[in-house]
Amino acid sequence: MKNELSIGFIGNPNCGKTTLFNDYTGAKLKVANWPGVTVEKKEGAMKYHHHHFKLVDLPGLYSLTCYTMEEKVSREYILSDDVDVIVDVVDASSLERNLYLTLQLIELQKPVVMALNMMDVVEERGMEIDLHRLPEMLGIPVIPVSATRKRGLDILMHAISHHQELSHDPLIHQHRSIQSSHPHDHHQEYTMVYSDLIEEKIDLLIERLQKHYPEMKNYRWHALKILEMDEDILAKYPLSIEDIVDRSYEKDIINQKYDFIEEIIEEVLVNKEKKEALTDKVDALLTHRYLGIPIFLLIMALVFFLTFTVGDALKTYFEIGLEFFSHYVRQLLELLHANAILISLIVDGIIAGVGGILSFLPNIFILFLALAFLEDSGYMARVAYVMDGIMGSFGLSGRAFIPMLLGFGCTVPAIMASRALEDKRDRFKTILITPFMSCSARLPIYVLFSQMFFKDKAMIVAYSMYVLGLFIAMLTAFVVHLLERKKQYAPHHLLIELPEYKRPNARTIAIYVYEKVEDYITKAGTTIFVASILIWFLLNFGPQGLVEDMSLSFGSLIGKQLVPLFKPIGLGYWQIIVALISGIAAKEVVVSSCSILFGINNITSQAGMSHMLGLLNGLGFGTLNAYTLMVFCLLYIPCGATLATIHKETNSWKWTGFEIIFQLLVAWIVSWIIYQGGLLLWS
Ligand code: GDP
Ligand code: MG
Repeated sequence: MKNELSIGFIGNPNCGKTTLFNDYTGAKLKVANWPGVTVEKKEGAMKYHHHHFKLVDLPGLYSLTCYTMEEKVSREYILSDDVDVIVDVVDASSLERNLYLTLQLIELQKPVVMALNMMDVVEERGMEIDLHRLPEMLGIPVIPVSATRKRGLDILMHAISHHQELSHDPLIHQHRSIQSSHPHDHHQEYTMVYSDLIEEKIDLLIERLQKHYPEMKNYRWHALKILEMDEDILAKYPLSIEDIVDRSYEKDIINQKYDFIEEIIEEVLVNKEKKEALTDKVDALLTHRYLGIPIFLLIMALVFFLTFTVGDALKTYFEIGLEFFSHYVRQLLELLHANAILISLIVDGIIAGVGGILSFLPNIFILFLALAFLEDSGYMARVAYVMDGIMGSFGLSGRAFIPMLLGFGCTVPAIMASRALEDKRDRFKTILITPFMSCSARLPIYVLFSQMFFKDKAMIVAYSMYVLGLFIAMLTAFVVHLLERKKQYAPHHLLIELPEYKRPNARTIAIYVYEKVEDYITKAGTTIFVASILIWFLLNFGPQGLVEDMSLSFGSLIGKQLVPLFKPIGLGYWQIIVALISGIAAKEVVVSSCSILFGINNITSQAGMSHMLGLLNGLGFGTLNAYTLMVFCLLYIPCGATLATIHKETNSWKWTGFEIIFQLLVAWIVSWIIYQGGLLLWS
């Protein structure tokens, strides 16, 4: 046995590959109950009885046909020599669906071990699987496991480490669906045997391939792919086949695989799904044609209600701490006779900026906790399903709604999740509209300004931002769709998988929330820290050097230049403009800049807010301006990290530049409509 074995985890989306990978490697990769979570392959290492294993977690896929980017990643990888053993992770509670991929994997003629996951769910439902007959029919070892409960993990590793012996296991099953009169009966050799017509063609193709490509491994698989007219394989191994392959046999091959699967299910599955009725009932409501969307909006409203109320209750403690800290540091620095500029930089720049952002941590925490519940329970995927119809009339598939929903958390992973989309145009469209979804970084802006200006209506005002963002995103998709109509547009149907409802797993949620909170703190310590220092410099230095009066500073000079542009949308105040510009670094910086600009050390406390409200009112910045500001922040240029991601995913500066200009325009126009409309209504 080779000293290091590399093991690829392959399976349908949501079957628990990542959970299993995390179990073995101790990694904290993202696990979630919707398809398309793992978009890149991830590697990890572990030791088992003196053997070193390299584990690879791959994006989920239903078949090896290469429709989506994630399928390509997975297929290319398992076809390469880098994989010694394929672990086919299977969701035992939906065995039938999962077996299709299994049959394809077996055809690769690499060692395959099946990890029959979610056995806990199977037991809970009172289903039974014949664990003797299943491996017999498939000709591969089948190990029952439960990744979340960490059951069967050792046995699985044991089976994997014996892969070499396994790969030559003789098959002892027989199927009966296909009566063979083929010259040589393949049932002793292969798990999946096709009709005589196809088997004959396979034999002919193999013969020809052997002649032309003597180096080729696994002739049978390549012959099958040629029969399916697989573009990649035909291009890679040109061959004249017209006399054998008169048409694509893809459908026949698929159908015969499903026939065999039916046969397997009939033999191995006892007591099918007793509890299905409950899931069905819940789904009837949550995915109801008319009620589905209102229910979704209600659930989101509940999320923001919790974010505000519970988050705020916790925030009070943060504020007291921050106030104390800021006061103490100032006194300490004064005691040490520190330079007044240094004191100002530390207290008014860094502590006000970074601390201000940190005090929103409780809100962020609650928001992500709620999102984690929605994702892990399987609800997210249902929303996508509900939206499928509406999205369809906007020229997008319901699957595009998943990246959009993720955008409520953070735009960066949301844009990456667009890789799960099959169609390139769909992907670009989704990337275009996802930044309009209100991410968690905008939350501090809403919390601050809505609480300052709208008091008891703060929550509704903040919620309206989320709805507006969603609306603008859909509107954009719709307009693009109208423009596109002229072009030829091939309709394609995407399958949305409804994962099973699960009791959310505590560890999964803990990892998720921990990571988000860590990200947030890291951002406060890096981007926001640097931005705060920069802003402090811009506001305390001017052409004449150190300035007492901020209106003589560089910041003010830059801001004032842009006032005419911002006046029509009610944001013609240089302070606000400076805050908006700095917000490009990260949207939270709008808030930390305000702390520095208005010299408020504890911007989220009652005292801090009324102080700032007074200053803003003094400038003539009122309720309508505040609302427009929130709208502008919602829609304008995405943050630096998002732009970098857009560039990485589209691999185009042109597209990235377009996104910037497009969003600025949309932000300006929508803000103008709201501001001017508001002026008309109220005056
Ligand atoms: P992947 O898409 O294959 O990587 O699947 P994930 O690892 O992200 O898991 C999908 C969902 O299934 C998550 O909600 C997991 O918590 C859940 N899950 C994974 N393994 C098990 C299991 O053995 N039992 C149960 N009940 N849930 C599981
Ligand atoms: Mg995964």
